[in-house]
Amino acid sequence: MNTKIYYTKPSIAMDEVKYATDAAKNGWGDKCYDYIHKFEKLFKNHLGVKYSIATSSCTGALHMGLSALGIKTGDEVIIADINWIASAAPITYLGAKPVFVDILPDTWCIDPEKIEAAITPKTKAIIAVHLYGNLCEMDEIMAIGRKHNISVIEDAAEALGSIYKGKKAGSIGDFGVFSFHGTKTITTGEGGMLVTNRVDIYDTVQILNSHGRNSKNPRQFWCEMLGFKYKISNIQAAIGCAQVERIDELIERKREIFFLYHNYLSRISGIQMNPIPDDAETRYGYWMPTIIFDKTINFDREKLLEVFRQNDIDARVFFYPLSMMPMFKEERENVVSYDIYTRAINLPSYHDLKETEINRVKKIISSVIQRS
Ligand SMILES: *Cc1c(COP(=O)(O)O)cnc(C)c1O
Repeated sequence: MNTKIYYTKPSIAMDEVKYATDAAKNGWGDKCYDYIHKFEKLFKNHLGVKYSIATSSCTGALHMGLSALGIKTGDEVIIADINWIASAAPITYLGAKPVFVDILPDTWCIDPEKIEAAITPKTKAIIAVHLYGNLCEMDEIMAIGRKHNISVIEDAAEALGSIYKGKKAGSIGDFGVFSFHGTKTITTGEGGMLVTNRVDIYDTVQILNSHGRNSKNPRQFWCEMLGFKYKISNIQAAIGCAQVERIDELIERKREIFFLYHNYLSRISGIQMNPIPDDAETRYGYWMPTIIFDKTINFDREKLLEVFRQNDIDARVFFYPLSMMPMFKEERENVVSYDIYTRAINLPSYHDLKETEINRVKKIISSVIQRS
């Protein structure tokens, strides 16, 4: 009998349990922020940035970061059409409009030329999402930001372990955001982080995350602005500390799993996977090994998912273009986005996945191709 293969699952070791237990037993009163501050420090040291603020989710971190930039009703924010909705929803929370542009066919990330074409006097920011750990063209995007005086945000929730020309993903734009949801490369159950080198963004988000209270103001419970409350708990942060202490190992395992799939699947003609960068200073974290079937392969996504299900294997569909969704519905000429999504799936990739299990997944993919 085969065991079930989940598509993701966190890697939890002894220290995660030990620290969470300590936080639950002792992390109160004077110590109620200890693990939170330690988690923020460990994470910012890993990334090589000046400031970090742990949050209850990536969605919340993005909401506050956009708010700190002054994004408001009537503004436009440019983002790739192929994305999880969490990257775009906070734009709408502030009354601004997401402008969905097309992706590049190899990295599946935002196309810089399409960004230029979409800029209007209302454009205030670009959100560069490093999809599945593949990297956006950051040099080009940063240059567009400078040229038009608009902010660049990195949603690096899927890009822990990805390095762009020597710089870690999330450390390049005006600010970066991460998620520690249970499906991500490191987890706190639910959780997120905002990172930045800009002290003004850091200060404003600190105030925003405390319902507008400024810790420098001596008046207790005085609010200077309407804020939010997206704080992480000390217990979640305790798990996060143990995860960051193992971060290199956790990233390396994700990369190993990708290459175990890639070594085999890349030899099958008609299958495209996440790219392997040829720049020595650039590296992908491979949060989600993904395959796209060529149009020459007579491939039916629903059928493949059914075969996976029959074999007790979870697989995920590629994200839909957001411009298809009912709340955004709009005609867009995002040819690549609309072409790719029906032909692509993500493969199981949790850290504890065994090589024999990876072989089971590989076999099913090749059997489906032979049958069609
Ligand atoms: C998971 C994810 C999010 C949302 O993270 P939450 O912590 O669930 O809010 C946002 N952006 C990207 C790219 C993600 O993968």
